[in-house]
Amino acid sequence: MNENVLKKLNETLTQSRKSHFNKNRIPDRKIVSIEEFKRLPFTTKDDIINNSPNGFVCVPKKELYQYHDTFSFSGGSSVSWFTKSELIECAKKINSGGIGFNEDDRVLVRFPYALSTTAHFTHIAAQMKNACVIPTSSKNNITPFTRIVYMMKKLDVTVLATMPIQALLIAETAQMMGYNIKSDFTALRAIYTAGEALTPTMRKSIERMWGVPIYDYFSTTEVGPVMIECEHRNTHPLDENFLFEVLDENLDKEVEAGKTGALAITTLNKKATPLIRYLTGDRARILYKECACGRKISMEIEGRKRDSVIVEDREFDVWILEEMVSYLPVNGMWLSIPYRNGIKFLIEKHADDDEVTEEMIKWLEENYRVPVFVDFVEKGSLHSRYELLKKENEFKYKDNEFYMEYMPYYSKSISCAELFNKKILYRTNILFQKWKV
Ligand SMILES: [Zn+2]
Repeated sequence: MNENVLKKLNETLTQSRKSHFNKNRIPDRKIVSIEEFKRLPFTTKDDIINNSPNGFVCVPKKELYQYHDTFSFSGGSSVSWFTKSELIECAKKINSGGIGFNEDDRVLVRFPYALSTTAHFTHIAAQMKNACVIPTSSKNNITPFTRIVYMMKKLDVTVLATMPIQALLIAETAQMMGYNIKSDFTALRAIYTAGEALTPTMRKSIERMWGVPIYDYFSTTEVGPVMIECEHRNTHPLDENFLFEVLDENLDKEVEAGKTGALAITTLNKKATPLIRYLTGDRARILYKECACGRKISMEIEGRKRDSVIVEDREFDVWILEEMVSYLPVNGMWLSIPYRNGIKFLIEKHADDDEVTEEMIKWLEENYRVPVFVDFVEKGSLHSRYELLKKENEFKYKDNEFYMEYMPYYSKSISCAELFNKKILYRTNILFQKWKV
């Protein structure tokens, strides 16, 4: 650990002791080595939830400038606070990436504005560079998918800022409305994504559909932007602002470079709600390779642990599941669940000749050493296409609509009550490998 990082770390530890949560948890002395740092206790999501809203606050009330929180599957919400200067720093972090917002841009922000951070930070970052912002928020009764498509066309939107799955659904809506995606949205120059793991297949699908590059960033509600994709399309950890650890499953030691593990981050500059060894719940891996932008470390986020399918102690994360599905000749939404000591894929049938043969399943079982089951379901079972085409005046919220907006992975056919009562967490995803545009 270099001296500058050690100095910042000790400042953070001192600051963190001002909070109710950490005042007796973090030792009241300077640490001198990385080994000593690694003996500090972890902070979990449950710690934050159980001590929200004020348990982590380390500055006087009058310095708290913006509040955010995120809904938790286990109940309660995880709260974070930002000072005015921290908000500006978050926007600067976004602008240190490759998206290159500028005064010619019209940025349509499709991230949810309600309580979550991503929309607000993107909004501030774009305006900091004199771009014009169109703040539509995520799906609601004012901006259904059809209106987003109209606005993108009529307002010559140059950057669509949205979660990856929304970029796919907006494209699908545009096609159903009769637009040609590549020739009708010529002003569009980039898609800016955040909010869920962007797998390589998902990235390729979105870029192929829209014909523009994606720039992605990874942030958490608790600390804001953590990793930024540069102009050369590599994702770099913001190591001047955070100390990163990628840990083995027992959380004892760091995994080797290139291996996937549990991500823990320690803030180095956050004053309002600093976090020490915060286990984000994400699976990540560090890659040491020099990028043309000059940075030497890249990082990949491979989804959240809760999205993985566990089969007899083996973990199949989103990247692996998507890789498995990509070997099947299908091109629709899919969902994976643990089933009879194996994995079952539910796949939306798009064409009459969509077929998965026994040989394909056998190949997957041999190569991934797990029983595989595949069921086709009708198109629209995992995500209603009718919903996409609704107009403002046709839109009515159902009881679970709010949650579904925040859980786009999950099938609309599964009610939230089921999700919460049975603690069944399914994941759907989209593959448009044969998408013809
Ligand atoms: Zn780079």
